[in-house]
Amino acid sequence: MTIAVHDLAQLDAAGRAALIARSEADISDFVGRVGPIIDAVRSRGDDALAEFGRQFDRADVQAGALAARPEDFDAAETALDDEIREAMQFAADRIRRFHQRQMPEDLWMEEMAPGVMAGERSLPIPSVACYVPRGKGAFPSVALMTTIPAVVAGVPRVIVLTPPTERGGIDDATLHACRLAGVTEVYKCGGAQAVAAAAYGTETVPKVAKIVGPGSSWVVAAMQALAGVIDVGPPAGPSESIVLADSSADPRRTALDLLNEAEHGDDSSAFLVTDDRQLAGKVAEEVAFLWGHMGAERVGYSRAVLGGSNGGIVIAADMDEACGFVNDFAPEHLMVESADPWSYVSRLTHAGEILLGPSTAISVANYVLGPNHVLPTGGWARTRSPLSVFDYLKRQTVGYVTAQGLPGLAGHTRAFARYEGFDAHANAVSRLRDGGDAP
Ligand code: NAD
Repeated sequence: MTIAVHDLAQLDAAGRAALIARSEADISDFVGRVGPIIDAVRSRGDDALAEFGRQFDRADVQAGALAARPEDFDAAETALDDEIREAMQFAADRIRRFHQRQMPEDLWMEEMAPGVMAGERSLPIPSVACYVPRGKGAFPSVALMTTIPAVVAGVPRVIVLTPPTERGGIDDATLHACRLAGVTEVYKCGGAQAVAAAAYGTETVPKVAKIVGPGSSWVVAAMQALAGVIDVGPPAGPSESIVLADSSADPRRTALDLLNEAEHGDDSSAFLVTDDRQLAGKVAEEVAFLWGHMGAERVGYSRAVLGGSNGGIVIAADMDEACGFVNDFAPEHLMVESADPWSYVSRLTHAGEILLGPSTAISVANYVLGPNHVLPTGGWARTRSPLSVFDYLKRQTVGYVTAQGLPGLAGHTRAFARYEGFDAHANAVSRLRDGGDAP
């Protein structure tokens, strides 16, 4: 299969809408199928988690052994080679630094008038589960990206849920990532059953206030189904990217970045958007060449994505139309391949992250740049933000009015209260004004 070319000039509104639709948009099928899984975990707890682990993950996992033990962390660290251990330490330091910079003040107060203070306090949420996928591959990077901001935000109880390996263990690097973040509670459960465990609690897995993290359609569907029971973080489904390239882009580098997010799975989306047909042709040749340097499984996903309606090359009439398509799509990752990438920034409003210039490879941002790689997918980048410390914090407003400050507020308060028909509200400030005697 070759790379698909979608010419915007040839597409009507329906064709364009089909191009913008994602695989995750249609998870209705999964929403129906996660119901029995959720019910089973709710009623049978650990036994159901172990059964589903055996059934869906083909894992040798038992109900009494769902939690990682301290010695498992030691064994995992020893099993990893120096190269990945050093890379993980490097990434953890950068991710921590970025998210520390993101932290708001504990408390700010604004003096609105003499004796009238109003402000805001930021507090960590009480507990959170970070979901770390492990289906098509292991994602220690997700473990770092989800747990470190939670720890930086000061969440007192951070747990990690991740599918068991076939031997009934936990992926070594995922476990080591938890250790680097300072998380000690790691449980072997994945998919919809893990979301249900976090929402209701089981004998082993504690019930927590919130669950965050990316996952397959099973995970996303369970989060939707349980949104009234547990707080769910930003929607992060199958990966998606757009490489926006103008005629100054290098075809090889553009192809390298286009292939980046297409190898996650056949449910990913990956587009090159350009107004330069010549560049498009050269990128298609480069992609075919680069497929020859990838493993069979990843090439399979990549061909499925780039050859179908979830990917390929989008040809726009000019770069204004190209930017318009990007904004309509609102991709998770956006890469700008141009000699002058900053000239596009003001035109690009909807994307989870925007990576500027030919050296800012998507994979660098995926792992070690510092910003979070859990980004809104499915078009949610129109209104939602990347995972951040703010997903682990809540705000509380604070007011402080002195006896000297109150008279300046009382009359206006009374006017509102009377208009809205609230006698007690009006009396509250009248009494204070009159020294506490009568309404
Ligand atoms: P996953 O852990 O999300 O899903 C695997 C789990 O799905 C299994 O443990 C199993 O419990 C469940 N499952 C599988 N088949 C099932 C069935 N037939 N019935 C019921 N449950 C079943 O891992 P994954 O599959 O690799 O998916 C990870 C997803 O996360 C991918 O789509 C990837 O693109 C995405 N991702 C996104 C980001 C991001 O930052 N947005 C990062 C990494 C991965």
